[in-house]
Amino acid sequence: MSPVTDAVLARLPKVALHDHLDGGLRPRTVLELGSEAGVRLPSADVDGLRAWIAERAAAGSLEEYLRCDELTVIVTQRPDALTRIAREAVEDLAADGVVYAELRWAPEACRAGGATLDEVIAAVRRGLAEGMESTAAVGRPVIARQLLCAMRNGPHSREVAEATVRHHDPARPGGVVGFDIAGPESGFPPSLHRDAFDHLARHSVPVTVHAGESEGPASIASALADGRALRLGHGIRIAEDVERDEHGDEVLGELAVRVRDEGIVLETSPTSNVHTGAVRPWGAAIEQHPFDRLRRAGFAVTVNTDNRLTSATSLTRELAELVRVFGYGLDDLERFQRTAARAAFLPPAERVRVEQVVTSGFAVARTA
Ligand SMILES: [Zn+2]
Repeated sequence: MSPVTDAVLARLPKVALHDHLDGGLRPRTVLELGSEAGVRLPSADVDGLRAWIAERAAAGSLEEYLRCDELTVIVTQRPDALTRIAREAVEDLAADGVVYAELRWAPEACRAGGATLDEVIAAVRRGLAEGMESTAAVGRPVIARQLLCAMRNGPHSREVAEATVRHHDPARPGGVVGFDIAGPESGFPPSLHRDAFDHLARHSVPVTVHAGESEGPASIASALADGRALRLGHGIRIAEDVERDEHGDEVLGELAVRVRDEGIVLETSPTSNVHTGAVRPWGAAIEQHPFDRLRRAGFAVTVNTDNRLTSATSLTRELAELVRVFGYGLDDLERFQRTAARAAFLPPAERVRVEQVVTSGFAVARTA
């Protein structure tokens, strides 16, 4: 088997299920929008901004990592800024080989400029649709949709859930496909947002929940029971419910069996998981990421960036890291992308089409 080179990786068709719109801004866009808004940023140039972000990202805690959001939230308070950011995100993902993307963001945190939830959601939809047009025009078509996040430490989850139901339109370019809760996991279990999740379930809107990142299995159990989550944002701390017996075989606890057997998809984000301390113990490197253990135990693992700017990454880079650390080949990488395609919150026929695009792209890569 030929080695998986960076050039091959860059061209592979990829599926991005877990990518924060406000965590993936272009540094230059942050600077331009910051100066338009009259905001003092930590640095006036691209390199300085990258360095400031890298320092916080490497601090080793989710709370410190999330401080980078404070920076990007400042520049996302106008609908026209959101449209620009969404369009640029799709263009950047196309350049990374992404063929399907769900971009998530928290509309409740983007209305300080006076816009309503409906207006900011429409602004992002416009930007994603523009990005779909511009990337298709250059022969790199991307299907882009949005996931709406409610902040788990805030009081707006029911309101955002209602907006999600109102705007749920998975067949529409840039449309809303589902719901998530984001923000600090510690102290804010999914059960706090039961009312929002019940509303979504009544309207059959699919849900993914950040869980098993800075908290362990109890948070995952709540994401399933209270959130009825079909996917877990990261979810990697389910590994704490998987032990190895004296023969070296994996022994799964009750919760781990449920996550595996129900095919609950883990939206793992290797670099971000190291940055936020989700990979244990503290200070662990990507080599200690449970990704491969979870894969071998039969979990539905997918590969994601989480925050492209904050973690200075791309899907190509995440795949390259997994190839380097775990020695994966094209068959493995294809399996991760097809798992992600099948877990997309799209209408079934479109999900199948995305999976076909992935399969044919990998077939081309094998003959190259
Ligand atoms: Zn995330």
